[in-house]
Amino acid sequence: MFTSKLKAIALSTALITSQASAFDIIAHRGASGYLPEHTLEAATLAFAQQPDFIEQDVVATKDGELVVLHDIHLDTVTDVAAKFPDRVRDDGRWYALDFTLAELRTLQVKERSDTDGKQVFANRYHGSKALFTVATLDEHIELISELNREFNSNIGFYTEIKSPAWHKKEGVDISQRLLDTLARYNLNGENANIYVQCFDFAEVKRLRNELGFKGKIVLLLADNSWGESATDYQTLLTEQGMQDIAKYADGIGPWLPQLLDMKALQQGKIVPSPWLATAKKEGLVIHPYTFRIDALPTGMTAEQILGLLTEPLAVDGVFTDQIPPVKNFLLQSGK
Ligand code: CA
Repeated sequence: MFTSKLKAIALSTALITSQASAFDIIAHRGASGYLPEHTLEAATLAFAQQPDFIEQDVVATKDGELVVLHDIHLDTVTDVAAKFPDRVRDDGRWYALDFTLAELRTLQVKERSDTDGKQVFANRYHGSKALFTVATLDEHIELISELNREFNSNIGFYTEIKSPAWHKKEGVDISQRLLDTLARYNLNGENANIYVQCFDFAEVKRLRNELGFKGKIVLLLADNSWGESATDYQTLLTEQGMQDIAKYADGIGPWLPQLLDMKALQQGKIVPSPWLATAKKEGLVIHPYTFRIDALPTGMTAEQILGLLTEPLAVDGVFTDQIPPVKNFLLQSGK
């Protein structure tokens, strides 16, 4: 009896510790491990799982709205090809920017597939009857704000400007539009509970200097081979690079394998990337992407990865498609 009481106390203490954990959980595209990404349903489920932040990726529509979608393309997450067969561009893709919001509303959002139509994550949502739809950034902000109010919680926003150079080429200043939206919700100040994230370093500089954004900014770091933006990530993934980034941004979002020497790791040695210490010294928040319980790196367990991130790499959090296993890890490890 005494033992079980002690256990209960220990557990409740651990829960409090877990809730106050300094390790940030960022719901990547909402609870995308369980429901189609970026839908209001996925955001609602993420809220119920109580992460620190919920992510919104933002692209523009033909009629000047901002919608929450991961890609500038529609074809891998909706039935656009069946509903609007003749609205395809010459490259074989359908673009959100070619559709009005009213048209986008007629699409059914589904679990992500590759361009051959095969579901990317085989064990995720299999249904086809529930009508998930494209939602606007305004709707996502309202939803999370209202849930925060009703449940007295303070889950933050983590909003990504997608392909700003591409949008500009198409005649849309997506960053300005985002900042206009954030201003309407008082999410543009220094203390607002939001990170604005972008892969494009030139746009991050522009956000800070030309557009005067006062809130927190995270520069996402890619591999040059992905063609995410004109940014040279190899130059930035250095000690000098981190010093440059810190002049404009509050944090970085590196890809998990960029954090350490992956070859050494295969031989059981943990060798953090040399720039990591500089990033910390410069005060940059470090939020790597993406922890997926159903797509772990070969030969690694979830506990090993989360153990590496919390200690010895000691980064500040992680983007994840699945909040519960990360929460459980933090609870059990007392992090
Ligand atoms: Ca994103």
